[in-house]
Amino acid sequence: MSTYKRILVTGGAGLIGSHLCRRLLADDHDVICMDNFFTSQKRDIAALLDNPNFELIRHDITEPIWLEVDEIYNLACPASPVHYQFNPVKTLQTSILGAMHMLDIADRTKARILQASTSEVYGDPDISPQTEAYRGRVNPIGPRACYDEGKRCAETLLFDYHRMRGVDIRVVRIFNTYGPGLHPYDGRVISNFIIQALSSQNLTIYGDGSQTRSFCYVDDLVDALVLMMENEAGFTGPVNLGNPEEFTIRQLAERVLEMTGSESTLVEMPLPADDPTQRRPDIALAREKLGWEPTTSLREGLGRTIEAFNLIDLARYRPPTPNRIK
Ligand code: NAD
Ligand code: UDP
Repeated sequence: MSTYKRILVTGGAGLIGSHLCRRLLADDHDVICMDNFFTSQKRDIAALLDNPNFELIRHDITEPIWLEVDEIYNLACPASPVHYQFNPVKTLQTSILGAMHMLDIADRTKARILQASTSEVYGDPDISPQTEAYRGRVNPIGPRACYDEGKRCAETLLFDYHRMRGVDIRVVRIFNTYGPGLHPYDGRVISNFIIQALSSQNLTIYGDGSQTRSFCYVDDLVDALVLMMENEAGFTGPVNLGNPEEFTIRQLAERVLEMTGSESTLVEMPLPADDPTQRRPDIALAREKLGWEPTTSLREGLGRTIEAFNLIDLARYRPPTPNRIK
């Protein structure tokens, strides 16, 4: 039986999407990358354009589109707080209308659809680690709500299309993921710290740096996405995907300084509103259902990311919004 599939990756030029497209092409599938290049640039996938199995569609997922596909990875959405807060209404539209448009394709073509949800559905959690059963502590009217509530609503839509229309769904809750391919002006903590360290600027710690995150290397995450999509046991999720190793933001800054050999110093800046104080995934369910766990340590993943940032020409990148590191 043929294992070749026509696979749509929305947000396919972004950090996770570009790695996923490369992986799916290596597995010999026909890949359609759809992106509006809000937080990415064509150069992120330029190397794929010559591949006859790769097709690029510049399209905004908030507008309907009809395609013939077998699988959909719905990744389109800005993931960095500074960019998803730039136009919060647009962020909500991207998550909600975008999910509906993709679900309509999945319904019509009988495609399986995987939704990139997020640890942000747990808000500022009062339990640690976070399990899938935890209902979360999201502020519905705060500055992060456009992302958190948009993603929560997208999960709702997937499960309602599943119950009402029998759509074949997969929901993954991704925890902080990083790696080569991060936009240099992305604004998330790993790209900020590395760029700052390499250009002898102070590393900007928001608050006192005692808040925690757990960082997953992008290749590990992509393995999990494919395992989830290919799971034939009818496992819909939601399932947490992330690396359970937890670090404070200050520890991360010190690690970046050590690994880059930078003489930059750490400066404290105001903590953004509703910034979660702790985040660490419980991945027991992913281990059990997918036989997956991350294998790349923070040191190893940071090493590869620093190497990639050392090679890029910042002049070739345009900040996605005016909200970028100074
Ligand atoms: P990213 O910002 O690098 O990539 C997102 C991509 O989506 C970009 O290429 C962007 O241009 C595109 N996009 C945004 N709005 C769009 C629209 N309206 N129409 C079409 N394309 C649009 O982010 P990422 O880190 O690769 O994240 C990918 C997905 O995974 C997102 O849905 C994000 O919410 C989710 N996620 C990521 C993380 C993480 O830590 N990286 C954590 C949790 C969830
Ligand atoms: N952060 C920081 N300095 C920066 C960028 C982010 O201290 O230059 C902090 C931020 O306040 C948060 C953590 O790092 O506590 C992770 O932020 P990021 O924007 O990467 O993603 P989040 O997990 O908050 O969505």
